[in-house]
Amino acid sequence: MADAIVEGTAKLQLDEETGEMVSKGELKKRLAKRAKKAATAKAKSEAPAKENNAPKAGKVQEVVKAEPMNMFAQGFLDEVYKERPVKPVVTRFPPEPNGFLHIGHAKAIAVNFGFAKYHGGKCYLRFDDTNPEAEEEKYFVAIKEMVKWLGFEPCAVTYSSDNFAKLYEKAEDLIKKDGAYVCHCGDAEIKAQRGGESHGPRFRCEHAKQPVEQNLEEFRGMRDGKYKPREAFLRMKQDIEDGNPQMWDLAAYRVLDASHHRTGDTWKIYPTYDFTHCICDSFENITHSLCTTEFILSRVSYEWLNKKLEIYEPMQREYGRLNITGTVLSKRKIAKLVNEKYVRGWDDPRLFTLIAIKRRGVPPGAILEFVNELGVTTNPTNIQLARFDQTVRKYLEVTVPRLMLVLDPIPVVIEDAEEIELDIPFYAKAPAMGSHKLKMTKTVYIERSDFREVDSKDYFRLAPEKAVGLLQVPYPIKAVSFTKDGDKVTEIRAVYVKEGKKPKTYIHWCPEGSRKVEVRIHNSLFNSDKPDDAEGGFLANINPNSEEIWSDALIESGFDEVKRRAPWPEAAGESELGKGGPESIRFQATRVAYMAVDSDSTDDKVILNRIVSLKEDSNK
Ligand SMILES: [Zn+2]
Repeated sequence: MADAIVEGTAKLQLDEETGEMVSKGELKKRLAKRAKKAATAKAKSEAPAKENNAPKAGKVQEVVKAEPMNMFAQGFLDEVYKERPVKPVVTRFPPEPNGFLHIGHAKAIAVNFGFAKYHGGKCYLRFDDTNPEAEEEKYFVAIKEMVKWLGFEPCAVTYSSDNFAKLYEKAEDLIKKDGAYVCHCGDAEIKAQRGGESHGPRFRCEHAKQPVEQNLEEFRGMRDGKYKPREAFLRMKQDIEDGNPQMWDLAAYRVLDASHHRTGDTWKIYPTYDFTHCICDSFENITHSLCTTEFILSRVSYEWLNKKLEIYEPMQREYGRLNITGTVLSKRKIAKLVNEKYVRGWDDPRLFTLIAIKRRGVPPGAILEFVNELGVTTNPTNIQLARFDQTVRKYLEVTVPRLMLVLDPIPVVIEDAEEIELDIPFYAKAPAMGSHKLKMTKTVYIERSDFREVDSKDYFRLAPEKAVGLLQVPYPIKAVSFTKDGDKVTEIRAVYVKEGKKPKTYIHWCPEGSRKVEVRIHNSLFNSDKPDDAEGGFLANINPNSEEIWSDALIESGFDEVKRRAPWPEAAGESELGKGGPESIRFQATRVAYMAVDSDSTDDKVILNRIVSLKEDSNK
């Protein structure tokens, strides 16, 4: 079967940008198109920068809630359903509780829960907890939370370990059907039986010839603690001649000297994944068992075991996994980053664990939209971080309010200004979001980078005698003087310009009395797109500027209402959970970035994370 799959895609080539497999001709077309686009962008960036941030009277955009359902209505998943068009559909999401989920798992959650939801069925959250050595309570909790956060409700939370007694019975059944034997071979012997390094002839060991009675007796001996780990294990009697290594008499049970999270010391033996997974699927009446293509060879053993045991047979089908490039997803590597304090923890916004993406402020709906956009096929998808950010940006653009935030404030005294109250829409293109009042004071704060001591012709922000608009303020201002302390400008004095042309640029500002906040701008944690392949390893590839902190930023008072009305957007798992966490307080800081409140915030101190920049990084 693996051969068939390889053949099927042999003529196709990988489009590295989208991760899709496409024909040679299509790839050529795409590359040419991208080259042209890049050339245009380059020409544009080399031309003098035109600064025009004036709010345009654009078409009112409809604020849409994403309906990430296309992936079920067409393509691979639609074919899977048509292969077995039964109702009710029953699926499962079966994580091992030995680590935090990452972005790749979001696809598995969306596929399994989404498939059931789309067909009006149900989906189990099943903890595949047959490996007692690696399991910890915190992972169970975090996984459950993530599923809910993404907006899915399991029909039940189950545990493979709840079936230990039933699985044991099935193992005895299998022995009685002459489908398994207790083997005492060591690693080297087993390797030799499977053809060895030279892929020579394969053969069974003497243990495979043992009578059923002896196998039963020895298996019960395993259960009763008569063997130490590695002294005995139960092997399935599959088909050693088969070309598929998953049929070479895989282990079904092994002796382990370990205490289990749920069953304590009840068991001395634990079933393997290959034995457990298909039988638990059968116990739960799973109709469509969806997993990633790493398990494609396992499909044969999966089907073999249920058939041999004469129990209900679910249908396993495999889709391509989702990989993100430009970061590391392996547990071991992330643990190193955490333990050696390169990041703030497993939920550091620069990581791509789901708890990190959540903390960063990415809304769950944007993740589902991302998975849906990429589509589901049998090919693995390798996606650059920039593409993920682009989807998040698009999603936030139409769903979050706008506020003014100044990262590096510098006071501007407008000499002829009087205090006025402004009514500012949260998003001009979406009046339904409402508006808020903002007091415009005689002194306002603007971004240090929006002022220049010396004006020039191609510059359109604030400078001596140069007029610039302040967003939402009736008149533009021009600088008349400024004071400095050393090299640093400490105050600008300005006046209104009540006549003349409209200014070319509008800048953001905050009034006197605005709340001081800390802003954390996260950039890519690694310098290269393939940190794993970097010289000196992934740690040598860390970007020293992956976190910039602005500790004296100012946020306008509209923030309080945005906070009160969170979650923004009101969609997916956050609203269903009641109030979202701090990360659900999201907004676009006009001209700065999309922001969310960080979980390090306290009553006295607000800390904001950049979710994504407003535009794709030009130097990336
Ligand atoms: Zn043996």
